Amino acid sequence: MAKFTIDAEKRYFSFDKDHEPVERVKPGDQITFNTVDCFSCQIKEPKDLVTDIDFDQVNPGTGPIYVEGAEIGDVLVVRVDDIQVVDFGLGVTYGVGYLKGNSELRTKVIDIDNKRNVAKFNDLEIRLNKMIGVIGVAPKEDPIGCGRIGDHGGNMDSKRIVAGSTVYFPVNVPGGLLQIGDIHGAMGDGELNGAGLECSGSATVTVDVIKNFHLDRPVVETEDFWYTIAARESYEEALTLAMKDMQRLMRGPYGWDDTDIDIYISLQGNVEINQGADLSAMPISLRVGIPKIEGKDLIK
Ligand code: CA
Ligand code: ZN
Repeated sequence: MAKFTIDAEKRYFSFDKDHEPVERVKPGDQITFNTVDCFSCQIKEPKDLVTDIDFDQVNPGTGPIYVEGAEIGDVLVVRVDDIQVVDFGLGVTYGVGYLKGNSELRTKVIDIDNKRNVAKFNDLEIRLNKMIGVIGVAPKEDPIGCGRIGDHGGNMDSKRIVAGSTVYFPVNVPGGLLQIGDIHGAMGDGELNGAGLECSGSATVTVDVIKNFHLDRPVVETEDFWYTIAARESYEEALTLAMKDMQRLMRGPYGWDDTDIDIYISLQGNVEINQGADLSAMPISLRVGIPKIEGKDLIK
């Protein structure tokens, strides 16, 4: 097992099969992606508003990493070993979310105490929930901006993508071309005003490849749940895809017919919103989760 560290300067603003890989690694290797915050550090003080920055520099993804042996039709396995953030993050408004009519444009520079795992918000302390906002692989066809979400991953903004989680991606191009960025120190489900606690930091992951396993979209495995993730323009479209992905993945390990799977998902499954702050500004990203059961791994 080899270890690699990727400098935050090595970043792109899109997922693209034509991006030159910054490193070639093998299954089992561990990579630390250093990342800048989603604003590429253009915001430093309260007077710097999101609405004033250069939006061409928003949401970069460090990388890409070429994983040897990852071929089209395989699954790229990304186990998140660790996430670190610097000692401050940004909380912002920028005219997104359904409270925008009641809010001013504001930047809050929020101190983080990593030793105690908390961020200071006015008179309160918020427990950190360090997560990766942007993580994905190159799409088969045209490039996709890192701020967007799709079947390749991207700006999924799931608070379940934390240390200890594993993210599975369909490999669309040789090597997969993994990029990571947009680390949040904390965020609630839905990312309700379109921003988390935006932090520079790093994510350390271990990659692996599963040969010839069909996935259409990303899947996340946490300590106790399996999630299918889908993002579309409407809740209905996204939920349909995530439900059908879950049903398909359950057929093998559970050995039930589709109707029993349907009934079981309704009894034990949840739908949760990764990001759905403002459907006029961005598509909805959601996840459908079922509890992990020993001997019934959805992907292995
Ligand atoms: Ca994000
Ligand atoms: Zn972010």
